[in-house]
Amino acid sequence: MNLATMTIADFLDHPVVCNCGHCHTSDVKTVEIGPGALSKLPSIVKHLGYDKAFVLADCHTYRAAGQQVLTNLESRDIPYTSFILDADEVVPDEYTIGSVLMHLDPSCNLIIGVGTGTINDISRFISHRMRLPYFIVATAPSMDGFASTVAPLITNNLKTTYDAHVPQAIIADLDILADAPMPMIAAGFADIVGKYTCLCDWKLSAIINDEYYCETIASIMRLALKRTIASKNGLLNRDKAAIGRLTEALVLAGIAMSYAGNSRPASGSEHHLSHFWEMRFLFENKKAVLHGAKVGIGTVIILRLYEYLAKTHFDFAKIKASPTPKPNDAWKAEIARVFGPAAEGVILLEERVGKNLPAKRGQRLASVEKHWAEIHSLISALPPSDEVAKLLVDIQGPMHPKQVGLDQAAVKDSLLFAKEVRNRYTILQLLWDLQLLEPYTNQIVNELYQ
Ligand SMILES: [Zn+2]
Ligand SMILES: [Zn+2]
Repeated sequence: MNLATMTIADFLDHPVVCNCGHCHTSDVKTVEIGPGALSKLPSIVKHLGYDKAFVLADCHTYRAAGQQVLTNLESRDIPYTSFILDADEVVPDEYTIGSVLMHLDPSCNLIIGVGTGTINDISRFISHRMRLPYFIVATAPSMDGFASTVAPLITNNLKTTYDAHVPQAIIADLDILADAPMPMIAAGFADIVGKYTCLCDWKLSAIINDEYYCETIASIMRLALKRTIASKNGLLNRDKAAIGRLTEALVLAGIAMSYAGNSRPASGSEHHLSHFWEMRFLFENKKAVLHGAKVGIGTVIILRLYEYLAKTHFDFAKIKASPTPKPNDAWKAEIARVFGPAAEGVILLEERVGKNLPAKRGQRLASVEKHWAEIHSLISALPPSDEVAKLLVDIQGPMHPKQVGLDQAAVKDSLLFAKEVRNRYTILQLLWDLQLLEPYTNQIVNELYQ
């Protein structure tokens, strides 16, 4: 595969034998990104052999693209049933899932979700549960979940990630996407900018924990990142070619996750911060902030932590001799305070995986000491946090937590505890191992809120 000339089609519908030793596959069959792409929808439905579609949209995505989807299906005599969710802001919770299921027409053998975010999550989940294939019609280039294999939903007021499957077809009509609100375009851009830190976290874990890592997948994402950043000015002008490159990058992130078999190529500590803030907003009944906007802010913060780390000189003997903080009652009380109704799951995870146990920390510290030169050169290759913050300012997106209503306490809690939500090694666990998480957190919070 020649990465410099790659197009999305190179990644679809055929296995790629890779020199990492794995054979990479993605189940996405068709991706149409271009002006007028929606006109191809009926032929794709027919080509893949479906008779009747269940079209799901909300009132906004119906106006943006749903109406046109129905007209296009009618023009080729493809029968359909449609259901338009009428809430101004659809929440992917039990109520919404239930009402979609009640309207799902059992004579349909395909679900077409119209919408990039929540509608995509709902369509992905319901189609998976009902063993139906689904297509996604994008309405904004706002996040990288197009080709994701999981569906984040809200159950019992908690964000929970469910297994799901990828869409068979992704249709991104640039005539529609170029009209998306600018904050959504900026959020998609920021979601891709987050790949700087997520790829670094992935490699970090490969060096320290010998975790599976594929250089080809990382290179695909680095190239998508480079193309997206080069498209910045075009995005500001709603140039369709630029919107197309951003959309490709967002779709590729999903394909890269399928290739890797997990979310490593698209999600690292910057996403863990974003998820933590999302949960906090949910508990506090605050209005949700665009996923990509939070990821951009998280990326700037994580880059700052990497900068501190690159400048620190270590006395490894002293660090290794320092006692490991215990996940005792005081720790559990802190988890209960920070995670509220989600605390039980967080505590159970630690009991199951023991990532904070002295023996595991000791093993990792030995590996960090051994590979420090390699780690240092990895983190020295990251772009400066100020440069990335400027990219976000240029695209008119937020770069400071205050801009989305995050106060000092929320940022502090997220830096100290976001690593407890998943058993996924990132810089946050590395700093904890080095007993630097607390001092760095205090330093960055002081700098951000002085
Ligand atoms: Zn590979
Ligand atoms: Zn993301």
